[in-house]
Amino acid sequence: MRDLIIIGGASAAQSAAIYAIRAGIEATVVADEYGGQINNTDKVENYLGIKSMGGPEMAEKFVEHMREYDVEEKKGLRATEVRKKDDETFEVELEDGEVLESRAVVIATGGHRRKLDVKGEEELTGKGVSYCAVCDGPLYQGEEVAVVGAGYAGTEAAAYLTDVVEKVHVINRSEGYSGEEITIKQVREAENVEHHENAQIKEIYGDPMVEGLKYEKDGEKTDLEVAGAFIEIGTVPNSGISDLVETDEGGYINVNPEMETRTEGLYAAGDVTDLGEQQLVVSAGQGCQAGLNAAEYVKEKKSES
Ligand SMILES: Cc1cc2nc3c(=O)[nH]c(=O)nc-3n(C[C@H](O)[C@H](O)[C@H](O)COP(=O)(O)OP(=O)(O)OC[C@H]3O[C@@H](n4cnc5c(N)ncnc54)[C@H](O)[C@@H]3O)c2cc1C
Repeated sequence: MRDLIIIGGASAAQSAAIYAIRAGIEATVVADEYGGQINNTDKVENYLGIKSMGGPEMAEKFVEHMREYDVEEKKGLRATEVRKKDDETFEVELEDGEVLESRAVVIATGGHRRKLDVKGEEELTGKGVSYCAVCDGPLYQGEEVAVVGAGYAGTEAAAYLTDVVEKVHVINRSEGYSGEEITIKQVREAENVEHHENAQIKEIYGDPMVEGLKYEKDGEKTDLEVAGAFIEIGTVPNSGISDLVETDEGGYINVNPEMETRTEGLYAAGDVTDLGEQQLVVSAGQGCQAGLNAAEYVKEKKSES
């Protein structure tokens, strides 16, 4: 039986692996892919000690760092279920049907982008509808695009796109921006941004590629011609892999400050939890806490048997 299985391929999981191994136990990391959400970010400028670095580069650094340790990697595989075999043993089922056993588990599965759920979105995904401004923004040089959402991710996407495309339309169903003041200022001061507030998207259209979108404001319909629509309306936690945890109404896994779930030996860390801000430094910190506590738990169980 393994000591610890960590499910996830980004900052929370990799931090948990490093701390658990340094604390003296073995760790297996199960990840469908490495990098996580930070792969979709142009620049990270708020991680302590690193003034500015591209998101994908930073994600690579995290993997490199984890590989300094003797971690068992199960990469390219999604975990589909975490369950109990008996009092002492967890079972983690992988998408290929393999079942791994361990004394403890850390769920660090983060989140995925929320869908807008309007007409045209699904059909035009990959044909002008995108959930990653950094990945697809450069395809729209010289064109007008829309960013839907003005929260943390929407503001970051808009700031990035101002330097890449001709014009950015930020469409927000409420008023104002949220996120980091420094980024909000950048978007507000950019000359090629048009703000559309209190606007509800009704449809994205085009054949075969996006040609525009329709939104409604104060009962009035507006047709906006854009070549791309970047949907940036937040994340949904990837928390549905275990009945052994409790979640809040948003689906985030309830943890205490020790990163313990309601099941002994089962921890969660990072953006999938209901605790703290959704930031790299927080997810890495939570990974540390989960990794160390899991290591203590495993060592205790081993000494009892
Ligand atoms: C556009 C954008 C910009 C951002 N900019 C910043 C920034 O500048 N600074 C900052 O600090 N934070 C930023 N963030 C937030 C930051 O990206 C997250 O807080 C951080 O990535 C959370 O890490 P995580 O490990 O918890 O989860 P994630 O990054 O979501 O990673 C989850 C990992 O688990 C894997 N996974 C999921 N489910 C399974 C499964 N069932 N089986 C196996 N593997 C699975 C995924 O493939 C992925 O590798 C940004 C986020 C976005 C979306």
